[in-house]
Amino acid sequence: MKSPLKSLIMAAFAASLVTAVSAAPPGKGPLVTGTYLEESNPQNIQSMKKGNRYALVCMECKSLSVKEVANEKDAQALCHNGGMIHCNSCKQKYTIKHVGPPGRSGDQWKMVMVNDKGKECMFIAPMK
Ligand SMILES: [Zn+2]
Repeated sequence: MKSPLKSLIMAAFAASLVTAVSAAPPGKGPLVTGTYLEESNPQNIQSMKKGNRYALVCMECKSLSVKEVANEKDAQALCHNGGMIHCNSCKQKYTIKHVGPPGRSGDQWKMVMVNDKGKECMFIAPMK
């Protein structure tokens, strides 16, 4: 999903992220700058490796959390069809859903994170 709204939100978050990171004392890990796009292919999310960072963006409370993949299970949980994902900021839980053409699997499918009304509320942007 590459809607203009999302790009705008992402750009705004990326800008505030850069500010936050620049304000950190030097020597506290690598600087995180750049532009990161939503990843909606479950296979690509699952293939994230331990130590990979990603941004979890919640459009409901307009927050961005930078997280690190702790292990393979962690990456799998992020794209588990029917699984839940929790926003640390608004404390809401969202359901991970895979959507795609019936009878086909793989590349055609994408993942959305929706609230109980089926509205898309979160997305993941890997920061490799
Ligand atoms: Zn939230």
